[in-house]
Amino acid sequence: MKKITIYSPNYYTYGAMLIGGVLKEKFKNKYDVKLVKTLDNNSINLFLKSDYVLLSLYSTLHLMDKNLKKVIELLQNNNKHNSKKTKIFVGGPVSAYPEIVLNELNVDGVILGEGEIITPKIIEGDKEGLAYLENGEIIINKPKPKPKLDFSKPLIPKDIGAQSIRGANVYIETHRGCIGNCTFCQVPKFFGKDIRSKPLELILEEVKEFKKKGVKRIAISGGTGSLYNFKKEVNKSMFIELLEKVSRIIGNKNLSVPDMRVDYVDRDTLTAVKKYTIGWVFYGIESGSDKILKSMKKGTNREKNLNAVNLAKECGVKVGGSFIVGHPEEKEVDYLLTKDFIVDAELDDVFVSIAEPIPKTELCDLILDTPIEKNPTFKTHLGPYKRLNLTESEARCFDLLLHAENWKSNPHILTKQLYSIYLNEAKTQGKDIRNITNLIFKYKKFL
Ligand code: SF4
Repeated sequence: MKKITIYSPNYYTYGAMLIGGVLKEKFKNKYDVKLVKTLDNNSINLFLKSDYVLLSLYSTLHLMDKNLKKVIELLQNNNKHNSKKTKIFVGGPVSAYPEIVLNELNVDGVILGEGEIITPKIIEGDKEGLAYLENGEIIINKPKPKPKLDFSKPLIPKDIGAQSIRGANVYIETHRGCIGNCTFCQVPKFFGKDIRSKPLELILEEVKEFKKKGVKRIAISGGTGSLYNFKKEVNKSMFIELLEKVSRIIGNKNLSVPDMRVDYVDRDTLTAVKKYTIGWVFYGIESGSDKILKSMKKGTNREKNLNAVNLAKECGVKVGGSFIVGHPEEKEVDYLLTKDFIVDAELDDVFVSIAEPIPKTELCDLILDTPIEKNPTFKTHLGPYKRLNLTESEARCFDLLLHAENWKSNPHILTKQLYSIYLNEAKTQGKDIRNITNLIFKYKKFL
């Protein structure tokens, strides 16, 4: 039997599992489909024996991964000396910028957009929905407009119960698309602005299957959980029914709904979150400055953010907030407003990210238009953390993490260890975002 191996870095992502399920279903007796998430010797041996290797990549950083590049070269060299050839294709969110993928990775093609419909056709030799190099020229065969969701079951690996993605064994997909316009986010462009939801019965069957395969803790993903079954407005009853029924299978201590927009929650949905899940919401607050929220096209403001935090607390729900620092238009005063917001909101947990230019987003365009010497991710920090040799974005990331620690509902004592963890976090993020920014400048002509 021929072999297809799907690799997703570090985690079995839902996307990789879904493609695995679609291929297994479609090519029942023709291909043996396997999923791997590490680049160890076992995986490399599996790649070498495979007819197709599908790389499911979800971060621009994966395009710069030296180990991945080495493995690809090994496979291509092996192809030169053997009659049996392994074709290598890339899919996943990085397929939104195929020109960069094809320049960075020596692969046979990039599967564009949502892969469930296209991937089986590509395996059969079709080229619609494929980007590839031909005589040094990039050919992009755009796929047909957004298909309906494919309702195949995901392929669930045996060791799924051993993985932890921020505490959950798996993030399941209940719907795709987002009605938001956030300039830093790839979701609306990649999945569209129409919400396509999976029928509830199929979600429940999937949850049972995951449980059978050893999954204990499930998170519901999909941009904003409460947009499930959204038509013109939030269908609260469907979202609440979803939580209730999934929780009945997996238990409310084992279900979370990580991401919620502050303008798509109300007392009923938050009460359901309290009753049927671990009782946390995570809001993408991003900034305490209305000017920056407007520039990010977040569709919210400081007041709405604070109201949503307070409403969740009134319903007994714990609140995590995520913030972005180092936006090219963020001035000192905007950053101070974010610190003020954290004091006023007294959140239960705080996440800080340095603004990332995901290629083909509006934020990426803005960063490409910002001279490097004015970009806070490159500008040297000359303020209170000067002796730590940080950039302005790194200093803000580090400072906000320290500041949030003091103002959380349950603050921790700032130990030396915590100080180092936060400093390391800020420096790592700074380095990664600088690498991504240098990459987008290198391929500016394609963006
Ligand atoms: S609400 Fe969330 S998923 Fe939707 S565009 Fe904004 S960041 Fe992206």
